[in-house]
Amino acid sequence: MFVYADNAATTKMRPSALECYVNTAKSFYGNASSLHGEGQRAKELLTDSREKIASALNCSAREIIFTSGGSEADNQAIYSAATLGKRKGKTKIVSTAIEHHAVLHALDKLKRDGFEIELLPVDERGIVSVADANNAITPDTCLVSVMLANNEIGTLQPVAEIGAICKERGVLFHTDAVQAVGHIPVDVKQLGCDYLALSAHKFGGPKGTGALFVRTGAPLSPIIEGGAQERGKRAGTEDLPAVAAMAAALTEAVATMNEATQKTLALREKLIQGLQKIPHSSLNGDREKRLAGNVSFCFEGVEGEALLLYLDDFGVCASSGSACTSGSLDPSHVLLAIGRKHEVAHGSLRLTLNENNTEAEIDYLIKTVSEVVEKVRSMSCLWRDLTQGKRKFIFE
Ligand SMILES: *Cc1c(COP(=O)(O)O)cnc(C)c1O
Repeated sequence: MFVYADNAATTKMRPSALECYVNTAKSFYGNASSLHGEGQRAKELLTDSREKIASALNCSAREIIFTSGGSEADNQAIYSAATLGKRKGKTKIVSTAIEHHAVLHALDKLKRDGFEIELLPVDERGIVSVADANNAITPDTCLVSVMLANNEIGTLQPVAEIGAICKERGVLFHTDAVQAVGHIPVDVKQLGCDYLALSAHKFGGPKGTGALFVRTGAPLSPIIEGGAQERGKRAGTEDLPAVAAMAAALTEAVATMNEATQKTLALREKLIQGLQKIPHSSLNGDREKRLAGNVSFCFEGVEGEALLLYLDDFGVCASSGSACTSGSLDPSHVLLAIGRKHEVAHGSLRLTLNENNTEAEIDYLIKTVSEVVEKVRSMSCLWRDLTQGKRKFIFE
């Protein structure tokens, strides 16, 4: 059996979005900046796509900038707020310890440029405290950035509450909503954000395309200089097939969200209950306040990489927050932030589902993961030490 359970990494394109992509590439080859008919047809489709995205987020089309994806949108929001902050002598930025690297690494760069970066901790459920966010804001603060849904453990953050505080305190507020858009209702007015990043390939659109919502009046500076596309804030000829397909994917995702969520939730519950039967295992993240498709576990006495390689042999595409997969020897910063010990954080497994998964696949996942965990444990020194009482188990 083949099971794709890595939808937080990327999704398969929705058939409607793929069809839109191909048709647009075939019949809308004009440059949207050209004055001739072909150019104007392309421009109309670009406008139509922008309106669809805006309507899904409850904002105006003028507030949408197309980007090359979530990473660029996160970077542009952060650098725009920082540029204005620096000019005003406000050089503190507040964010969280569990952000995506697109946010964390942009903040690292600003830190090297003299900004003060405060990363708020999260509790053991993986949720940031609204009071902590409020306390961290000082008169020097130019930006608060808090993700809407975490990509590793799926936890949903109190973004609307933090947005309201930022508004009251007169601080710009960005949210990385890449895991949320197309999966949970997202309304920029209700969230009270000045910036919001989204990425097409996380909701059945093409890779390499995304958007940044920028509230009218919020500062925006270009990262890429050149032509006057995107109101001069993002140069480069637009990738019209990708943008149109992103709009088609988001429109469908929003229209089918309730049904998809119900189906995915049922699959998730079955999978969590099945995997909880594995001894010395623990679910990562809040039991309730999490994305419908996210299942993240730590298994004691296991290396995440070994799990992934064996699972791949059995046709299962999964992910782990540990070492090799993230290109570093440290375990996931998210798992450490929720208090997982290093050796436990190394034994993590993330299975991310959507409505295209089936019950039969969940049965297969439970059986296969259980067997593979047992196999990997039988070869592990850590597991031997645990069973011989030389080390103490952390999970029952
Ligand atoms: C995937 C992801 C990104 C990066 O998006 P890309 O389009 O791949 O650049 C940023 N933030 C979160 C939370 C993500 O899951």
